[in-house]
Amino acid sequence: MIRDKAYWKFKKRKAKEKFQEFKKEFFSSKTFFRFSLTILFTTIFLILFFCCGGLLYFYSTPIVDKFKGVDFQIHALNVGQGDSTLIKFPNNQIMLIDAGERDMGSHVTNYVKSFLESENLTKLDYLVLTHPDSDHIGGAIELLNSIEVDTVFRPKVYTEEEAENMSGDVGISSTKTYDEVISLIKEKECDEYFSDNTFSMNLGGCRVEFLSPQESYYDKSNEYSAVIMITYQTKKFLFMGDADETIEQTLIENYGDYLKADVLKVAHHGSETSSSQEFLEIVNPTYALLYVDSNQDLPSIEILNRLHSLDCEILRTSTLGDFALTTLNNEIIYSKVASPSIDIALLISIYTLAVALTWGIRERHPYRIKPRRVPEKVLLE
Ligand SMILES: [Zn+2]
Repeated sequence: MIRDKAYWKFKKRKAKEKFQEFKKEFFSSKTFFRFSLTILFTTIFLILFFCCGGLLYFYSTPIVDKFKGVDFQIHALNVGQGDSTLIKFPNNQIMLIDAGERDMGSHVTNYVKSFLESENLTKLDYLVLTHPDSDHIGGAIELLNSIEVDTVFRPKVYTEEEAENMSGDVGISSTKTYDEVISLIKEKECDEYFSDNTFSMNLGGCRVEFLSPQESYYDKSNEYSAVIMITYQTKKFLFMGDADETIEQTLIENYGDYLKADVLKVAHHGSETSSSQEFLEIVNPTYALLYVDSNQDLPSIEILNRLHSLDCEILRTSTLGDFALTTLNNEIIYSKVASPSIDIALLISIYTLAVALTWGIRERHPYRIKPRRVPEKVLLE
């Protein structure tokens, strides 16, 4: 019994000593410093992860939840200085007006895919290619390869192959991207319609009118832009593509006050080639949508001033990211689409590297440590 007590006392003392030794080692050595740095890096990582919407990476559908299932929705996709607008009509048909530049193809494709999934839909009913510029059609290559598209509205600009046996004034494309998109449309056997004249269609009570082009041949690519007016209940939405002032003038002559709209997708990313004072005053929108990139020089200050003078609210993709609009109680409302604002892969890599450097990427292997030379004095003794 006594021996047992002594034994436990001895054990206790040994443990205490060991703990003291560990404490000494921990606080005096680099371990404490390394440990503190790891906690600091972990805290920074977690703050960045949660504050920048990191959890959203684990949800497959980056869609505005409060608009989910709503009859009529317009989604402005953030594709930098390019256009891409997704529209859901009350009959559950989906239209995509433009698909951004080629390097935005995966963003557009993923967005459309998630949207279709969240609405329990499987295909895109209409794809409108407003005009042949790559910042509007480039992304369509990845889109067409990944998502079923029923009908494509395309400008009356032909590929060289298509124009082979044609005569007279024929618009012929000069870009490889356009040729690639058109041949993909044929390969996927989509129904093709040329938007070379005004026409309208009714999609579940929504009126969709193609107001321009009104001719089949133009000098400039932007003049081919499909100009689309969508009317839902009492609200009107006008999409201008990259139409310039000449087209605006024709529209004023043909439609006058009918051009008044609640929402205007500002032409040509807010460039001075479009949006004349006269045209803007006639449209007089409540909301102006600008598809712009903060690293580019558009929108122009002049156009911004014109829009400010109309007292409309300017919604930019460069500041809002992807965003969506709908109507509620006869009022237009909009909301930012929730999406993570940081690159999780990059954040994790930086975090791992920082921690690895703190603790030493590899420990020195024991056999590489040279044995200490025994002092000669000791040997003599
Ligand atoms: Zn453009």
